Amino acid sequence: MKCPKCGSLNDKVLETRQSKEGVVIKRRRECLNCGYRFTTYERIEEEYIEVIKKNNTVEPFNKEKIIRGILLASKNRPITQEQVRQIADDIEKYLLDEGKLKVSSAEIGDLVKNRLKELDPVSYLRFVSVFDGFEDIKDFEEFIKSFEKKNLDTKG
Ligand SMILES: [Zn+2]
Repeated sequence: MKCPKCGSLNDKVLETRQSKEGVVIKRRRECLNCGYRFTTYERIEEEYIEVIKKNNTVEPFNKEKIIRGILLASKNRPITQEQVRQIADDIEKYLLDEGKLKVSSAEIGDLVKNRLKELDPVSYLRFVSVFDGFEDIKDFEEFIKSFEKKNLDTKG
């Protein structure tokens, strides 16, 4: 979000709050360039993004799914939740800015990969090696869970 004071695009979210009815999300932000603090409001827009999955079914774009996938890939890695959320926010913003209202899940995967590559090679490799083989983040999630369970079992 562009800083109203200095125009920098680098900010971090300090706090996120939902209105009582849950229709508005309020975010308190701090500019990383000049330190100025400002507030943004997020509402549901008419315009929404559709994701075409590998099996050609269509589902609404779900930022939380992206966040969950990155969190899984970056588990125990030096990536903060804020950074993860930022990636998902940026991807959504990019898609809306580009007018890409129909996008394949593979393309979203590529966008995530590009960002993870810069941020942390280990998380990137985890994401690539695992996500590519699955239809859905949910499958990925289940794989990671079963993988962790196996590790715990062998550790005894
Ligand atoms: Zn600023």
